[in-house]
Amino acid sequence: MEGGELDEPAAQGADGVPGDDSLGMDPEAFRRLGYRIVDEVVTHYATSRARPAVRTVGREDLLNALGGPVPLDPGSPDEALSTLVGVALDAMQHGDHPRYFARVPGPSSFAGVLGDWLGSGFNAIAASWAGGSGTTTVEIVVLEWLRTLLGLPEGTEGVFTSGGSLANLQALLVAGAQHRPAVTYMSDQAHASLAKGLRSIGAAPEMIRILPSDDRFRLSVDSLARAISEDRRAGREPRVVVASAGTTNTGATDPLGPIAEICRSQDLWLHVDGAYGASAALTESGRRAIGDLGLADSLAVDPHKWLFQPYDAGCLLVRRPGLLEAAFNLDSEYLTSAHGEDVDLRDRTLELTRRARALKLWLTFRVHGAAEISRAIERGIRLAELAEDELRRDDFWSVVTPAQLGVVTFAPRRSSRSNVEIAELASEDGHAALTCTRLRDRDVLRLCTINPRTSDDDVRSTLARLKSLAGAD
Ligand SMILES: *Cc1c(COP(=O)(O)O)cnc(C)c1O
Repeated sequence: MEGGELDEPAAQGADGVPGDDSLGMDPEAFRRLGYRIVDEVVTHYATSRARPAVRTVGREDLLNALGGPVPLDPGSPDEALSTLVGVALDAMQHGDHPRYFARVPGPSSFAGVLGDWLGSGFNAIAASWAGGSGTTTVEIVVLEWLRTLLGLPEGTEGVFTSGGSLANLQALLVAGAQHRPAVTYMSDQAHASLAKGLRSIGAAPEMIRILPSDDRFRLSVDSLARAISEDRRAGREPRVVVASAGTTNTGATDPLGPIAEICRSQDLWLHVDGAYGASAALTESGRRAIGDLGLADSLAVDPHKWLFQPYDAGCLLVRRPGLLEAAFNLDSEYLTSAHGEDVDLRDRTLELTRRARALKLWLTFRVHGAAEISRAIERGIRLAELAEDELRRDDFWSVVTPAQLGVVTFAPRRSSRSNVEIAELASEDGHAALTCTRLRDRDVLRLCTINPRTSDDDVRSTLARLKSLAGAD
């Protein structure tokens, strides 16, 4: 490398001829900058409560700091790092902030962060057995741990993905939702990624059946049964039912037992979208709320949500062995080729080159154990219940949907401000971050409380602030 603080003699090859490694870095400089990053991240965690939960900066200011012409010459790595930390990483939502209650928080654990760093540092790949038998084994082991904890039957196979959207999409492909005239059913509370996935694989609009949810925002079993017989009469082929294990809007879970019953009797594929909520099945109260995930033909779960992993980490589990490979094998000769014991994960997913996403979750399980992880999830469930209790004690508020899997929705009985305005004002100075959700054409306030580092006071102070913004004082 030339110039700057990293000016070092080029590395000597074994034959004494210097290699032309202009992107190389002296090990000591690498170490020092690496330690600096560790310090930045530890400080980020240690001071986050005192800093904004979300910050949006204008495009012009950001471009002034981050843009400009292509840098042709080397610059100071310290300055560049400071700019990234101070500008780019400052201007975003901090899903790990204790008062970040918007959308679905991302309260990543220290162990998860360390595992992610390790994987990046080693440029760890998990595509084929030959190219990553160790990383592949880690992924297979973690998938098996998840299968056990979530209650899916033995033999279930899986693969890590970038997130719930891709896990859902791949489940739809495995289920054959792309084939005409296959119809896929879901409630109006199902995550938008499902309809998007179906559209992207060419499903016609009439093949995507969005059914009205019941008064508790769950898929209505009666309307599902009706829609299926209507479609059969019309010559369409009912193929897939998507049930949510924890909708993002309210945390409600569709009634898995009755839905699975219909799927069994009608020979339909049951995909459970548990991207956000399925992790709650690691706790007893979560299992009670969700029911039996083992009924699913496929299940999506996002470790980057409620299993405390940094982005990105999604996961798809498929009950019947071999179906993932049948859908995604890279080699057209695959099915006739001898396969043996070795797993090529590229053959279970749309990706070929893929990061070893399971390293971080493996490390988290080894460091904390499932019991501690379960307690951290339980804490999130309790925090939403605490919020609900507080709201019910105060006649100013009405609870729209009760605390379910760490989500509660509510609204002031009267306010001169809209709920959207209230949420925006509450988030503006960054004290807390929240977003509204739309239920039956009405915007309501919503807290998603899955960060175990959130204190009871964080919840109480946020509610007090919302009340004053809604104009109670
Ligand atoms: C977050 C979420 C998704 C999408 O997952 P990504 O990881 O954002 O792609 C899908 N379904 C549900 C229920 C979710 O909460």
